[in-house]
Amino acid sequence: MEDCIFCKIVKKEVPSDIVYEDEKIIAFKDIKPVVPVHILIIPKVHISSVNHLESKDRELLGELFLVARKIAKDQGVTERGYRLVFNVGRDAGQTVDHLHIHLLGGVKLPFA
Ligand code: AMP
Ligand code: ZN
Repeated sequence: MEDCIFCKIVKKEVPSDIVYEDEKIIAFKDIKPVVPVHILIIPKVHISSVNHLESKDRELLGELFLVARKIAKDQGVTERGYRLVFNVGRDAGQTVDHLHIHLLGGVKLPFA
């Protein structure tokens, strides 16, 4: 996806503050953090949103959550707690159409 900002981050065409990377997944700090720990975890392959997931993505999805758990530990929020969020579509505030998990923590989060 040529115009996708997250695909450009994957290809290192756009700089980012990377906290984790493997063959299939990359995670980096959100450019506009809303809480002290705000990391985005994304598959390297372009998937537009949860609405675009297919059966073949099952294993990748599981890996995204395991990476999220590892990053939470690395960031020191495992015990206090943290939130994992997928925004899906415009009403949810999805602005980048490349599947991503927000890992949010480091503060008492105000709403469910
Ligand atoms: P969403 O609103 O769920 O689509 O989340 C997209 C997130 O990507 C927002 O929190 C943005 O601040 C973040 N974002 C956009 N561009 C960049 C970038 N170049 N580097 C890091 N985070 C970004
Ligand atoms: Zn993309």
